[in-house]
Amino acid sequence: MTNLSPIAVASVSGGKDSTATALRAIDEYGHDRCRFVAADTGHEHELTMEYLTDYLPGRLNVQIDVVKADFTQEIARKRIYVAEKWPTKLVAGKQGKWVRLGTIEEDDAEPPPPENVYLGAVIGGFVWSPAIRPMSEDEAAEVVARALAVLHPTGIPYLDLCLWKGRFPSRKAQFCTQFLKRHPLDRYMFDLIEQGFRVESWQGVRRDESDARRDAAAREWTPEGWEIVRPIVDWTAQQTVDFVLSRGVKLNPLYSLGCSRVGCMLCINAGKDEIANAARRWPHHIERIRGMEWLVGQASKMGFSTLLHHSDGEGGNAEFAYRHCNIDAMVDWAKTSRGGKQYDMLRVAPPPTCSSVYGLCE
Ligand code: SF4
Repeated sequence: MTNLSPIAVASVSGGKDSTATALRAIDEYGHDRCRFVAADTGHEHELTMEYLTDYLPGRLNVQIDVVKADFTQEIARKRIYVAEKWPTKLVAGKQGKWVRLGTIEEDDAEPPPPENVYLGAVIGGFVWSPAIRPMSEDEAAEVVARALAVLHPTGIPYLDLCLWKGRFPSRKAQFCTQFLKRHPLDRYMFDLIEQGFRVESWQGVRRDESDARRDAAAREWTPEGWEIVRPIVDWTAQQTVDFVLSRGVKLNPLYSLGCSRVGCMLCINAGKDEIANAARRWPHHIERIRGMEWLVGQASKMGFSTLLHHSDGEGGNAEFAYRHCNIDAMVDWAKTSRGGKQYDMLRVAPPPTCSSVYGLCE
């Protein structure tokens, strides 16, 4: 039987917005009618996980449930697919094709194929998806063996997702949010509904975060059957920070360590400053990413894949993109200024103790 009083389910990420939202939920519904849940991607900074699983539960006097995506079955199915289908596909190669960007009308004529079909190209709103050269049977068998050697679940959701897909997510194909956060959080909501709860999803979204969120509603219903509540939708970043601090709650320490956001380490959307900051402060994460790039590359037909994407590599040839976008190339690029042509001593120098963008320094 459904409990008619709704409960607020606040998803917390370790960021300032979700912490403010959790506080608003407690204010509105009280501890008994709130649930808190975090999606662990396995690609978070250790300080974020400490904040989420240690500091916040103690400070807010709440339990934070941690959910994790699991790709064991997908990887098992992929192994069968690779063993059965890849040999033929690799020997046949792949024809290149033009891909229409969203702005192109259906009846706009496609340009003729580029001179070199194995290289990427962009003409108007058309992006050329390069052809793949056919392989010999021996070469194909080698690629299949290489992929099967690494296609085993590691228990790290982010890495397992990339192994399954044979690539990292990108700005144009940001499937990480959907598989690592949205699906596990939806399952958590469905579980509560099955237990008879009426649930509301409380989300820390603000309109001034990005163009995509400019029209976000304060409340709206989802097709899944629960209402989304965005209690800080019209707040600024600074208002959010001030609110959290005014309640005696600390922010994720990453904000004081040069991070303007505290998602994955590194997020696929990381900019030059974020890459430079991570490389200076947390070389062990760069090393971890280097290892992931190697593993995911082994699971891909091409033999390489990169976590970050340099704008020069977008729509370009994959091998070019790899050379210019692997994590070490990106760290080198992040240390430069003037369009990547000159080393910038400020970017190479040790980081300041506190470089918060929210005025946290006294
Ligand atoms: S968008 Fe960034 S923070 Fe979000 S799941 Fe993907 S990599 Fe992680």
